[in-house]
Amino acid sequence: MATDAQRAKRRDRKRANYRAHIPKVSAEVLGEAGQDPQFESRHGIKTYVICRICGAKCKKLENHLIALHPHLAEKYPTDWPGAPLVCPKTRKFHSAITKNQMKTSRGRARPELSSVSGHPGETPLRWWSVVCLIVEGCSHQKIAEDKRIVVPDQKTERWFTAITRIARQLGFSGKRCLYYFGDPITRAKVAEWQRASGLSHKDFANFTAISWQRVRGFSETSGKDLRIIPGDSRKIRDWLDRVIRTLMMKPDTAKGLRHRDYNRSAVLKSFFPDLGKKYDLLFVVLSESQKFVTDKPEAGIEQWQDWLCDQAGREVAGGLRGNLFTRFLPWAPDVSRFIEGQNKLLEQKPGSLDVLRINRNLWQLAEQFFASYFDTTRPIVRNAWQARRIEARDMQVSIFRVAQLTPPAQLNPQATLAEKSEDEPSKKPRKHGPDPNPEENIWFKIGLEIEKLIAKGESLIDARKKVQGAYQYQTIVRYHMLYKEHLRTA
Ligand SMILES: [Zn+2]
Repeated sequence: MATDAQRAKRRDRKRANYRAHIPKVSAEVLGEAGQDPQFESRHGIKTYVICRICGAKCKKLENHLIALHPHLAEKYPTDWPGAPLVCPKTRKFHSAITKNQMKTSRGRARPELSSVSGHPGETPLRWWSVVCLIVEGCSHQKIAEDKRIVVPDQKTERWFTAITRIARQLGFSGKRCLYYFGDPITRAKVAEWQRASGLSHKDFANFTAISWQRVRGFSETSGKDLRIIPGDSRKIRDWLDRVIRTLMMKPDTAKGLRHRDYNRSAVLKSFFPDLGKKYDLLFVVLSESQKFVTDKPEAGIEQWQDWLCDQAGREVAGGLRGNLFTRFLPWAPDVSRFIEGQNKLLEQKPGSLDVLRINRNLWQLAEQFFASYFDTTRPIVRNAWQARRIEARDMQVSIFRVAQLTPPAQLNPQATLAEKSEDEPSKKPRKHGPDPNPEENIWFKIGLEIEKLIAKGESLIDARKKVQGAYQYQTIVRYHMLYKEHLRTA
């Protein structure tokens, strides 16, 4: 084994050898070249460039500078502004290689490794699939384990390293979290949604089935950008999606909702104040994608997904300016699903990108994305940019109506209940006077069971979850509240 000193000696000897044999220009030529950054092109020199420091003739200066003038290498471009670093012939040669590589590999599916020895049965690890899992809040460890189940011979660590590397190369942070509309769900975000919904900590906790202490924690000022664990995030995201979609329904399909009460565009604006920015981002990426599919007429959705990952990777590596694709990537799975949905709708082949290719109006497509996500129409989305936010108090009333719950007492329950009974006959026992035998109703049975569990020392939420069965959690909450109201009135 060579020691460090021996290695250094060998390096110095090599360097001296190289220096002794390097072809150099004469001192006069070097003097002239030092004055004139365009010296080579002026004299028709195509096969080498002149090092302005020592006069060496090199095909490219990059390695020469590092090897022989390590202290001056960094300053070289500023000391000799405009002096070429690569000779035209070498530049042409390398660019031809790169172009050829791009032509053959860009927009193509990754090579199939399953028949390669050392990778038995292994399908290529697509960056895209890693993106999809990260966005859904999977940890790198979990993804690696999933992968290991598919290919049992291989060690989890190997996948883990690969996945961590990919995540970093695509600009994801190591922290595990769920993304919503391309943004990580943070405490600040949830606090904002809660404010927009006008719900108290307890109501918000009831609706989303998260403990209310935790909900209270979200709105505390410290650690605003902390990401919320995926389990809770998922509950919040699902609830929010459900509420918004119900609020977006047409009056005739949503029983008990009166749309004269609120503007549907305003609902979107209230929950997503930065909808305009999101729209801009989507529009720019869609137009970039359209360029891509025009260049690659044979590309399908998989090639597009790989291309998006490629672009993001190049941005992180510094090969591409800006952060457009790294910003977009966490959102891309949603958009990709949307394109698949459009294919089905327009009876295109699955995996086709014709939606992008033939669409002349990308802004319409971007609007259509939001519209289909929230089950609504494009005009409503379009008006959301300028819409005014709904007052938190009014939003609260609407949300309670959506959940068909009685609003909390401080909201003047008499008025709201009266309004409601005009709309449609409610099934609540109060409206019909005392129920002759409430014990037969399902809400009574479930409510009773919950109360029994609570009496045994279960917490409210645990008790509700235990009796849940085939019901939605919200339904259980409603039944429980009906039961309690029954106790109060009876
Ligand atoms: Zn030199």
